[in-house]
Amino acid sequence: MIFDLRFAISDLRSLHEQTHSALTAVPPSKNPATTAKTGAPLPPPPAGVDFLRSTLTAPATAADAALRPLAFSDFAGQSKTVERLKVMVGAARRRGEALNHILLSGPPGLGKTTLAFILGAEMGRNVRVTSGPVVEKAGDLAGLLTNLEEGDILFIDEIHRLPKTVEEYLYSAMEDYRLDIMIDQGPNARSVRLSLPKFTLVGATTRAGLLTAPLRSRFTLQTRLDYYDAATLIGIVRRSCHLLKVELDDDGAREIATRARGTPRIANNLIYFIRDFAQEKAQGRITKPVAAAALELLEIDVRGLDEMDKRILRVMAEHYAGGPVGMNTIAVAVGEEADTLEEVHEPFLIMEGYLQRTPQGRVLTAKGYQAIGLKPAGGAQGTLL
Ligand code: ADP
Repeated sequence: MIFDLRFAISDLRSLHEQTHSALTAVPPSKNPATTAKTGAPLPPPPAGVDFLRSTLTAPATAADAALRPLAFSDFAGQSKTVERLKVMVGAARRRGEALNHILLSGPPGLGKTTLAFILGAEMGRNVRVTSGPVVEKAGDLAGLLTNLEEGDILFIDEIHRLPKTVEEYLYSAMEDYRLDIMIDQGPNARSVRLSLPKFTLVGATTRAGLLTAPLRSRFTLQTRLDYYDAATLIGIVRRSCHLLKVELDDDGAREIATRARGTPRIANNLIYFIRDFAQEKAQGRITKPVAAAALELLEIDVRGLDEMDKRILRVMAEHYAGGPVGMNTIAVAVGEEADTLEEVHEPFLIMEGYLQRTPQGRVLTAKGYQAIGLKPAGGAQGTLL
């Protein structure tokens, strides 16, 4: 098998380091957080451990890679997506051709990168990994594409963040396996045509809506990953604990799964922390009370909500009468970047029915009020329960 996991891991790490630094390079908001009505400054963001944000935006580590399934048979859930991918792999292998281009979308931590590596393993091809914001110039793209071998997979994470100028070069690369690159400037400028091996582009995005129509239309399969149900997550938790040789009982597995926001990456990171906690406080065995106490320490409640989630709900209830209010306003009020709120916090809050997204802005639901100990008073400002 040509697939080289060590290469993949180091590549992944450098990719995520670059991506992360690009994300953290965003200048801090110039507007200090203020309340809507009085303009008085809000208290600073909670001094929580920020476990969710760091889990979902930080670089993938060797610990992540150690738990990554390497074959479809190991990959739990997402049955429709897996079925579609298996059909494509089967057909491509029978024809002896490269896989068609595939777009995977969905919130972070659900398995997009994992599936790209599984596709590489199932096809017996290399997987090269990069990320939208890292490919700054057409030359960067040319470098990546010309280093591929026939049938290799190029995985572009955060493909919606690819610069427009680079994206346009990708069209002919995907369609005709060629790149027309302009070299030199002024009177010496000329176009050079590069022929590319027949490769497969696997794009991943947390924001499918931001992809341009011409790029989207060049993917043969577009498939969305959904949050995992509790039963599937329990299976993932068991598998991870088994690989890590951690003792876990049924209620312990359920406790972790129900607080992991339907996200395997969160479940796995929780396991690493709870394993340490259990080792220090409970002879290494994860039971329900052990898991609950460890999660308490991470400030993740029984519903999987962390301090930032609750701060979002509280700001909406107390300062904006439950909405509608725009995400940029919420972001300033809670002292976090709007992009982070939209990628890390909002999808789960909407999926679980704490928030609604309307054309006018975000609206807090009755369940959202309840989560912070308030009840909506006739749609107006919430009152204490
Ligand atoms: P994404 O690329 O969508 O952000 P990843 O593919 O990096 O997510 O997945 C994060 C981690 O979650 C992986 O390291 C892997 O261990 C685990 N994981 C994801 N999906 C599954 C699954 N279906 N079964 C088991 N583990 C999974």
